[in-house]
Amino acid sequence: MAEHESLEYGKADFVLLDNVSMEEFMANLKLRFEKGRIYTYIGEVVVSVNPYRAMNVYGREVVEQYRGRELYERPPHLFAIADAAYKAMKRRNKDTCIVISGESGAGKTEASKYIMQYIAAITNPNQRAEVERVKNMLLKSNCVLEAFGNAKTNRNDNSSRFGKYMDINFDFKGDPIGGHISNYLLEKVTYRVMVPKHNNCVFLFLHQLLRGATDSLIRSLHIQKDPTAYNYIKVGGQIKSSINDAADFKAVADAMKVIGFTGDEIQTVYKILATILHLGNLAFGVDGDVTLIENTKLVSVIRELLSTKEEKVEKALLYRTVSTGRDVIEKQHTAQEAGYGRDALAKAMYERLFCWIVGRINDVIEVKNYDARVHGKNTVIGVLDIYGFEIFQNNSFEQFCINYCNEKLQQLFIQLVLKQEQEEYQREGIPWKHIDYFNNQIIVDLVEQQHKGIFSVLDEACMNVGKVTDEVFLQGLNVKLAKHAHYTSRKLSPADKSLEFNRDFRIRHYAGDVMYSVVGFIDKNKDTLFQDFKRLLYNSSNPVLKGMWPEGKLSITEVTKRPLTAATLFKNSMISLVENLACKEPYYVRCIKPNDVKSPLLFEQERCRHQVEYLGLLENVRVRRAGFAYRQTYPRFLQRYKMISQFTWPNHDLPSDAEAVKKLLQGCGFDHDAAFGKTKVFIRTPRTLFSLEEQRVEM
Ligand code: ATP
Ligand code: MG
Repeated sequence: MAEHESLEYGKADFVLLDNVSMEEFMANLKLRFEKGRIYTYIGEVVVSVNPYRAMNVYGREVVEQYRGRELYERPPHLFAIADAAYKAMKRRNKDTCIVISGESGAGKTEASKYIMQYIAAITNPNQRAEVERVKNMLLKSNCVLEAFGNAKTNRNDNSSRFGKYMDINFDFKGDPIGGHISNYLLEKVTYRVMVPKHNNCVFLFLHQLLRGATDSLIRSLHIQKDPTAYNYIKVGGQIKSSINDAADFKAVADAMKVIGFTGDEIQTVYKILATILHLGNLAFGVDGDVTLIENTKLVSVIRELLSTKEEKVEKALLYRTVSTGRDVIEKQHTAQEAGYGRDALAKAMYERLFCWIVGRINDVIEVKNYDARVHGKNTVIGVLDIYGFEIFQNNSFEQFCINYCNEKLQQLFIQLVLKQEQEEYQREGIPWKHIDYFNNQIIVDLVEQQHKGIFSVLDEACMNVGKVTDEVFLQGLNVKLAKHAHYTSRKLSPADKSLEFNRDFRIRHYAGDVMYSVVGFIDKNKDTLFQDFKRLLYNSSNPVLKGMWPEGKLSITEVTKRPLTAATLFKNSMISLVENLACKEPYYVRCIKPNDVKSPLLFEQERCRHQVEYLGLLENVRVRRAGFAYRQTYPRFLQRYKMISQFTWPNHDLPSDAEAVKKLLQGCGFDHDAAFGKTKVFIRTPRTLFSLEEQRVEM
C-alpha cells in the first residue's frame, strides 16, 4: 500500500478494493483521475490514465524520491516500476522487461519515454563518456523512428504505427552500454504512405520533408513543397501539417547524422521518399490493347532518383515476368494491375526503408566486444510499446493481427504473473495455493496452430491455384473450425442476428467478441510485390538502395520459393518476441485513454470500462488477490507499523524482526490472515491492511 496517499484520493492499489467488481474498480479509477492521481497499482502492475495535460511529476526531484525505494513506499508512479525493474536487474542480475499496452492515444509511447528518462537519470553517476554516448544514441534513435514510423491520426497526433521493442544492455556497474530495437508490423496496408481514411495522415517525415527541406534539396528531388500536389497525401481529404515541420525535419536529419548515417545514406532516404511521392502521381491508361503510362516525364524523374535505366522503370511498371516452367514470358499488366503494382511498390519501398533504418540504428547501438569474463554479466531491460486490443466498426486483417498479438501477451502475462507468484512463495517457503483463472491458450491456438489455426487456413487459401478469394478462405475456416467454442460465422449459426454478412466471422477473444470481415485478408496476407520491382531496385547503381533489396539478385528461374506470407511473418515475430520476454522478469504498464477529445477533465465511463475489460484488469486483480494482497520484508514492515504495538514500539527485544512481526500481528488478531516467509510477511486480505493503516493513523 503506497505511502502518503490518503483515502480521499481513492485506493492506490486496486487489490485493496473491498469487492472486486467493475463498479468499484471504475469508481476508484474515476476518483483518482479526477483528483489528478493518474497512476494506480494492481500489485506490481501500473495502471495509467492519460492526463492530457502536463503533469508536474517527472522532474529531477521526483526521480530522487523514487530512486532505490520499494514499490509501496511512494505513491504509484512509472518511476517506481522503472526502479523495480532496474533494481531486479542490478541486485539480482535478472533480465527484466516492461510491457506497456493500451489503445491508441492511451499514453504508451509517453510512458516508455518517461521510463527511459528515469533510467537515464539514475545511471552513469561517474559520467563515463562512452555511457553518455550510448544514452545519446538511444534518445536520438527514438527521434528518427518516430519521424518514420508515426503519423497523425484522428486518435492521436503522434500515433506510433508500429510496435516497438527495445532492449537496453547494462554492464556490471548497471550503466547502459548499448541496445537493440525490434519493430513489429509497421501498419502496412492502410499504411501511411497513402492516406487510408479521412482525417488520417501520412507518416510524419513525409510532411517534414516537403515543409522542411532546403530549396536545393527540393529541386534535386524534383518535388514541390505543396503537399496537395501528391495523390498519396491528398487522398485523405485533409492536409495536416504542423508549424514545426521544418524544425522537425532538421532535428531528424541531425539525429541521423549523429547516429552515423552517411551522407549517401541520408540522400538515399530522401530519394526513396521522393520516389514514393512521384509514384503516387503516375497514371496508367490504355491504347488499344497496350497499357501505357500517361505521364512519362515522371518516369525519367523516378529513374534518376533510383539510379537506374528509364526503360527498366517503365517495363517494371507495365509488365511482369512469369516463368511457366520451361519458358520465361513477359506479361503485360492491365491498367488496374499496373496501378496495384505501383501502390505495392510504394508501400514495399517504405517498409523496406523503415526496416533498414532500424537495422542501421542497431548496427550503431548494439553492444560490441563485451567480454563477460572481464566485465561480469551483461544484463538487459526490455521495453515493449505495442498496440493494445483494437475493436473498430470494421475489423480486418490488421486488427486480427493486433488482437492475436494481445492474446499472446495475455498468455504470457498469465504464465509469468502466476509463475512469479509461485516462485516467490517457493523462495519464501510458503505453500502454493492453486489460482483459478481463464486460460486463453485456446484462443492463441485457434489463431496460430499448425494446419488447424486461422493463419494456416489463410496461408492454404493463398496457396490455392485457381480462384483465390476471401470467400474461399471463409469456407475453409468454417470447415476447420465449425466446432471451436471461440469461433462463429453466419454460416455456422444462421440464427445469430449479430452476424450480418456472409463475409464475417467472429472470435470470442479473452477481452470480448470481435467481428472480422474477411474482405482483403487474402490480398493483405500475400502482400505481393512483383519480382520485377525487386530486380529493378537491386540493379540500381546506388549501392545503398541496392543493399536494401538483396533478393532482387535472383533471376526469375531461380525464384522458386514463395515469399513468406504476412501472417506467417507476423506469427513468427510474435513467437520470438514472446520467447524473448518469457525469460525476463516482467513489469507491466496498462494505459487507459479517458476520452476521445483529448480533454484533461473528461472521464468517459463507458470508454474506460471497455478498456478495463480489454486489458483484463479485473482478472488481474482477482489473480493477485487469490494469493496474498500484500507482502513486505520484515524490517520494512516494522518500520511502518511498529508504533501500533507495545511489543515493537519503540523497539523490540525479540530474537528477530520476523518474530516481532508475528507478535505484532498476533496482538491485533491478524496472524491467521498472514503467512510468514523467510524474509517477508504475506498478508492475504486487504481488510487487514486497512485496519493496520487505520491504527497507524490513529496513533
Ligand atoms: P499510439 O498507439 O497511437 O501510438 P500511444 O498510446 O503511444 O498511442 P502517446 O503517443 O503516448 O499514445 O500519447 C498520446 C498523447 O497523450 C501524447 O502526445 C500526449 O499529448 C498525451 N499524454 C500521454 N501521456 C501523457 C502524460 N503522462 N502526461 C501528459 N500527457 C500525456
Ligand atoms: Mg505510441
